[in-house]
Amino acid sequence: MPELPEVETIVCELCPLTVGRGITDIEVLWPGSIAGATPEEFAARLVGRTIDGLTRRAKFLLFHLTGGDVLLVHLRMTGRLVLRSRGAAEERFAKVIIGLEGDEELRFTDIRKFGRLQLATAEEVVDLLGSLGPEPLAEEFGVAELKRALGKRKAPLKSLLLNQTLLAGVGNIYADEALFLAGLNPQRRPRSLSEVEWQGLHAGIRRALQAGIEDRGTTFSDFRDGRGRPGNHQDSLSVYRRTGQACPRCGGTIARTVISGRGTHFCPSCQV
Ligand SMILES: [Zn+2]
Repeated sequence: MPELPEVETIVCELCPLTVGRGITDIEVLWPGSIAGATPEEFAARLVGRTIDGLTRRAKFLLFHLTGGDVLLVHLRMTGRLVLRSRGAAEERFAKVIIGLEGDEELRFTDIRKFGRLQLATAEEVVDLLGSLGPEPLAEEFGVAELKRALGKRKAPLKSLLLNQTLLAGVGNIYADEALFLAGLNPQRRPRSLSEVEWQGLHAGIRRALQAGIEDRGTTFSDFRDGRGRPGNHQDSLSVYRRTGQACPRCGGTIARTVISGRGTHFCPSCQV
Protein backbone atom coordinates (compact mmCIF):
# COMPACT_ATOMS: atom_id res chain seq x y z
CA MET A 1 0.00 0.00 0.00
CA PRO A 2 1.41 3.41 -0.90
CA GLU A 3 2.34 5.40 2.21
CA LEU A 4 3.43 9.02 2.65
CA PRO A 5 6.74 8.67 0.70
CA GLU A 6 5.07 6.95 -2.25
CA VAL A 7 2.26 9.50 -2.49
CA GLU A 8 4.77 12.34 -2.07
CA THR A 9 6.81 10.87 -4.93
CA ILE A 10 3.78 10.89 -7.23
CA VAL A 11 2.81 14.43 -6.20
CA CYS A 12 6.34 15.80 -6.76
CA GLU A 13 6.46 14.17 -10.15
CA LEU A 14 2.99 15.06 -11.39
CA CYS A 15 2.93 18.60 -10.02
CA PRO A 16 5.01 20.26 -12.78
CA LEU A 17 3.44 17.99 -15.40
CA THR A 18 -0.23 18.66 -14.61
CA VAL A 19 -0.60 22.04 -12.89
CA GLY A 20 -1.90 24.68 -15.28
CA ARG A 21 -3.46 22.16 -17.61
CA GLY A 22 -7.15 21.92 -18.42
CA ILE A 23 -9.25 18.77 -18.13
CA THR A 24 -10.76 17.97 -21.53
CA ASP A 25 -12.64 14.71 -21.00
CA ILE A 26 -13.30 11.94 -18.51
CA GLU A 27 -13.76 8.26 -19.10
CA VAL A 28 -15.03 6.14 -16.22
CA LEU A 29 -14.42 2.45 -16.92
CA TRP A 30 -15.42 1.25 -13.43
CA PRO A 31 -17.93 3.46 -11.57
CA GLY A 32 -16.95 1.91 -8.22
CA SER A 33 -13.72 3.93 -8.28
CA ILE A 34 -15.76 7.16 -7.99
CA ALA A 35 -17.01 8.05 -4.51
CA GLY A 36 -19.98 10.30 -3.84
CA ALA A 37 -21.11 10.92 -7.42
CA THR A 38 -22.30 9.17 -10.54
CA PRO A 39 -19.78 8.95 -13.40
CA GLU A 40 -21.87 11.53 -15.28
CA GLU A 41 -21.86 14.02 -12.39
CA PHE A 42 -18.15 13.42 -11.85
CA ALA A 43 -17.35 14.12 -15.50
CA ALA A 44 -19.63 17.15 -15.71
CA ARG A 45 -17.94 18.81 -12.72
CA LEU A 46 -14.40 18.11 -13.97
CA VAL A 47 -14.45 18.79 -17.69
CA GLY A 48 -13.46 22.37 -18.47
CA ARG A 49 -11.69 22.89 -15.15
CA THR A 50 -7.97 23.63 -14.89
CA ILE A 51 -5.65 22.01 -12.37
CA ASP A 52 -4.45 24.90 -10.21
CA GLY A 53 -2.35 22.91 -7.78
CA LEU A 54 -1.45 19.42 -6.58
CA THR A 55 -0.67 18.68 -2.94
CA ARG A 56 -0.58 15.77 -0.52
CA ARG A 57 -2.28 15.29 2.85
CA ALA A 58 -1.53 11.98 4.60
CA LYS A 59 -1.93 9.37 1.84
CA PHE A 60 -4.30 11.50 -0.25
CA LEU A 61 -3.45 13.35 -3.47
CA LEU A 62 -5.37 16.63 -3.78
CA PHE A 63 -5.85 18.18 -7.21
CA HIS A 64 -6.98 21.77 -6.63
CA LEU A 65 -9.21 22.94 -9.47
CA THR A 66 -10.28 26.33 -10.76
CA GLY A 67 -13.48 27.32 -9.01
CA GLY A 68 -12.37 25.85 -5.70
CA ASP A 69 -13.28 22.18 -6.01
CA VAL A 70 -10.73 19.52 -5.08
CA LEU A 71 -10.27 16.10 -6.62
CA LEU A 72 -9.12 13.74 -3.89
CA VAL A 73 -7.37 10.52 -4.89
CA HIS A 74 -6.68 7.73 -2.43
CA LEU A 75 -4.70 4.86 -3.95
CA ARG A 76 -5.38 2.44 -1.08
CA MET A 77 -3.91 -1.02 -1.85
CA THR A 78 -3.02 -1.13 -5.54
CA GLY A 79 -4.10 2.16 -7.11
CA ARG A 80 -1.78 3.95 -9.52
CA LEU A 81 -2.00 7.36 -11.12
CA VAL A 82 0.18 7.60 -14.18
CA LEU A 83 0.52 10.28 -16.87
CA ARG A 84 0.62 8.87 -20.40
CA SER A 85 0.34 10.27 -23.89
CA ARG A 86 -3.02 9.59 -25.43
CA GLY A 87 -1.61 7.18 -27.97
CA ALA A 88 0.28 5.05 -25.41
CA ALA A 89 -0.69 1.41 -25.02
CA GLU A 90 -3.75 0.92 -22.84
CA GLU A 91 -3.18 0.31 -19.16
CA ARG A 92 -4.37 -3.00 -17.74
CA PHE A 93 -6.88 -2.47 -14.93
CA ALA A 94 -7.57 1.11 -15.99
CA LYS A 95 -10.58 2.44 -14.06
CA VAL A 96 -10.71 6.18 -14.76
CA ILE A 97 -9.04 8.24 -17.50
CA ILE A 98 -8.66 12.00 -17.06
CA GLY A 99 -7.89 13.63 -20.39
CA LEU A 100 -5.67 16.74 -20.27
CA GLU A 101 -4.91 19.49 -22.74
CA GLY A 102 -1.85 18.65 -24.77
CA ASP A 103 -2.71 15.08 -25.72
CA GLU A 104 -1.86 13.45 -22.43
CA GLU A 105 -4.04 11.75 -19.87
CA LEU A 106 -3.91 10.72 -16.23
CA ARG A 107 -4.77 7.05 -15.97
CA PHE A 108 -6.03 5.71 -12.68
CA THR A 109 -5.54 1.94 -12.57
CA ASP A 110 -6.39 -0.38 -9.71
CA ILE A 111 -6.17 -4.17 -9.64
CA ARG A 112 -7.91 -4.66 -6.30
CA LYS A 113 -10.38 -1.78 -6.76
CA PHE A 114 -10.08 -0.28 -3.27
CA GLY A 115 -8.77 3.08 -4.50
CA ARG A 116 -11.15 6.04 -4.76
CA LEU A 117 -11.50 9.35 -6.59
CA GLN A 118 -13.77 11.91 -4.99
CA LEU A 119 -14.68 15.42 -6.01
CA ALA A 120 -15.32 17.77 -3.10
CA THR A 121 -15.83 21.42 -2.38
CA ALA A 122 -13.24 23.19 -0.24
CA GLU A 123 -15.60 22.91 2.77
CA GLU A 124 -16.17 19.21 2.18
CA VAL A 125 -12.41 18.62 2.05
CA VAL A 126 -12.07 20.07 5.54
CA ASP A 127 -14.66 17.55 6.75
CA LEU A 128 -13.25 14.62 4.82
CA LEU A 129 -9.68 15.15 6.05
CA GLY A 130 -10.51 16.73 9.40
CA SER A 131 -9.86 13.63 11.48
CA LEU A 132 -6.31 13.11 10.22
CA GLY A 133 -3.41 13.56 12.60
CA PRO A 134 -0.47 15.93 12.03
CA GLU A 135 1.98 15.61 9.14
CA PRO A 136 5.18 14.08 10.54
CA LEU A 137 7.43 15.88 8.05
CA ALA A 138 5.93 19.31 8.67
CA GLU A 139 8.46 21.83 9.99
CA GLU A 140 6.33 22.52 13.07
CA PHE A 141 6.06 18.83 13.97
CA GLY A 142 8.48 18.48 16.87
CA VAL A 143 9.00 16.01 19.71
CA ALA A 144 6.32 17.82 21.72
CA GLU A 145 3.77 17.32 18.93
CA LEU A 146 4.65 13.62 18.73
CA LYS A 147 4.18 13.24 22.48
CA ARG A 148 0.87 15.10 22.28
CA ALA A 149 -0.31 12.72 19.54
CA LEU A 150 0.72 9.40 21.11
CA GLY A 151 1.68 10.07 24.70
CA LYS A 152 -1.60 9.26 26.46
CA ARG A 153 -2.35 6.12 24.46
CA LYS A 154 -2.05 2.62 25.87
CA ALA A 155 -1.59 0.57 22.69
CA PRO A 156 1.81 -0.66 21.39
CA LEU A 157 3.85 1.92 19.48
CA LYS A 158 3.48 -0.05 16.26
CA SER A 159 -0.33 0.17 16.37
CA LEU A 160 -0.24 3.87 17.25
CA LEU A 161 2.06 4.77 14.35
CA LEU A 162 -0.45 3.20 11.93
CA ASN A 163 -3.41 5.15 13.32
CA GLN A 164 -4.07 7.92 10.78
CA THR A 165 -6.05 9.99 13.28
CA LEU A 166 -2.93 10.26 15.49
CA LEU A 167 -0.25 10.66 12.83
CA ALA A 168 -0.80 11.05 9.09
CA GLY A 169 0.79 9.03 6.31
CA VAL A 170 2.73 6.31 8.14
CA GLY A 171 1.87 2.72 7.16
CA ASN A 172 3.30 -0.70 7.83
CA ILE A 173 6.64 -0.34 6.04
CA TYR A 174 7.68 3.00 7.50
CA ALA A 175 6.35 2.22 10.98
CA ASP A 176 8.67 -0.80 11.17
CA GLU A 177 11.59 1.18 9.77
CA ALA A 178 10.99 4.13 12.11
CA LEU A 179 10.92 1.88 15.19
CA PHE A 180 14.13 0.21 14.03
CA LEU A 181 15.89 3.56 13.59
CA ALA A 182 14.67 4.56 17.05
CA GLY A 183 15.90 1.29 18.58
CA LEU A 184 12.46 0.71 20.09
CA ASN A 185 10.63 -2.60 20.37
CA PRO A 186 7.30 -2.32 18.49
CA GLN A 187 5.46 -3.60 21.58
CA ARG A 188 6.63 -0.70 23.77
CA ARG A 189 3.91 1.49 25.27
CA PRO A 190 4.19 5.31 25.18
CA ARG A 191 4.16 5.71 28.98
CA SER A 192 7.41 3.69 29.18
CA LEU A 193 9.39 6.04 26.91
CA SER A 194 12.12 8.27 28.30
CA GLU A 195 12.67 11.78 26.92
CA VAL A 196 15.65 10.52 24.91
CA GLU A 197 13.52 7.70 23.48
CA TRP A 198 10.82 10.19 22.42
CA GLN A 199 13.49 12.17 20.62
CA GLY A 200 14.74 8.98 18.98
CA LEU A 201 11.25 8.03 17.86
CA HIS A 202 10.62 11.49 16.42
CA ALA A 203 13.92 11.38 14.52
CA GLY A 204 13.29 7.78 13.42
CA ILE A 205 9.88 8.55 11.94
CA ARG A 206 11.21 11.52 9.99
CA ARG A 207 14.36 9.76 8.80
CA ALA A 208 12.43 6.68 7.69
CA LEU A 209 9.95 8.76 5.67
CA GLN A 210 12.63 11.05 4.24
CA ALA A 211 14.73 8.09 3.12
CA GLY A 212 11.67 6.66 1.35
CA ILE A 213 11.10 9.93 -0.48
CA GLU A 214 14.77 10.20 -1.48
CA ASP A 215 14.54 6.72 -3.03
CA ARG A 216 11.28 7.64 -4.78
CA GLY A 217 9.22 5.16 -2.78
CA THR A 218 9.17 1.44 -2.04
CA THR A 219 7.98 -1.07 -4.64
CA PHE A 220 7.42 -4.70 -3.76
CA SER A 221 4.82 -5.24 -6.45
CA ASP A 222 2.31 -2.49 -7.11
CA PHE A 223 3.67 0.98 -6.46
CA ARG A 224 4.56 3.06 -9.52
CA ASP A 225 5.41 6.75 -9.67
CA GLY A 226 3.59 9.31 -11.81
CA ARG A 227 5.43 8.10 -14.90
CA GLY A 228 4.87 4.42 -14.24
CA ARG A 229 8.30 3.63 -12.80
CA PRO A 230 8.92 1.55 -9.64
CA GLY A 231 10.59 3.04 -6.55
CA ASN A 232 14.01 2.03 -5.19
CA HIS A 233 13.62 2.02 -1.42
CA GLN A 234 12.87 -1.72 -1.15
CA ASP A 235 16.65 -2.27 -1.54
CA SER A 236 17.48 -0.05 1.45
CA LEU A 237 15.01 -1.22 4.10
CA SER A 238 16.56 -2.32 7.39
CA VAL A 239 13.93 -4.67 8.82
CA TYR A 240 10.72 -4.64 6.78
CA ARG A 241 10.33 -8.02 5.03
CA ARG A 242 13.84 -9.01 6.12
CA THR A 243 12.82 -11.76 8.55
CA GLY A 244 15.74 -14.11 9.26
CA GLN A 245 18.36 -11.75 7.83
CA ALA A 246 21.13 -10.10 9.83
CA CYS A 247 20.32 -6.81 11.56
CA PRO A 248 22.32 -4.04 9.83
CA ARG A 249 23.05 -2.45 13.22
CA CYS A 250 23.96 -5.30 15.58
CA GLY A 251 24.13 -8.46 13.47
CA GLY A 252 21.20 -10.05 15.35
CA THR A 253 18.46 -11.87 13.45
CA ILE A 254 15.43 -9.91 12.22
CA ALA A 255 12.21 -11.39 13.61
CA ARG A 256 8.58 -11.12 12.56
CA THR A 257 5.57 -10.89 14.83
CA VAL A 258 1.98 -9.75 14.44
CA ILE A 259 0.71 -6.62 16.21
CA SER A 260 -2.90 -5.49 15.70
CA GLY A 261 -3.15 -7.92 12.81
CA ARG A 262 -0.19 -6.42 10.95
CA GLY A 263 3.06 -8.21 10.19
CA THR A 264 5.78 -6.47 12.18
CA HIS A 265 9.51 -6.78 11.55
CA PHE A 266 12.13 -5.87 14.13
CA CYS A 267 15.47 -6.82 15.68
CA PRO A 268 14.87 -8.38 19.12
CA SER A 269 18.54 -7.72 20.03
CA CYS A 270 18.81 -3.97 19.54
CA GLN A 271 15.17 -2.82 19.62
CA VAL A 272 14.47 -2.85 23.30
ZN1 LIG B 1 19.87 -5.31 15.82
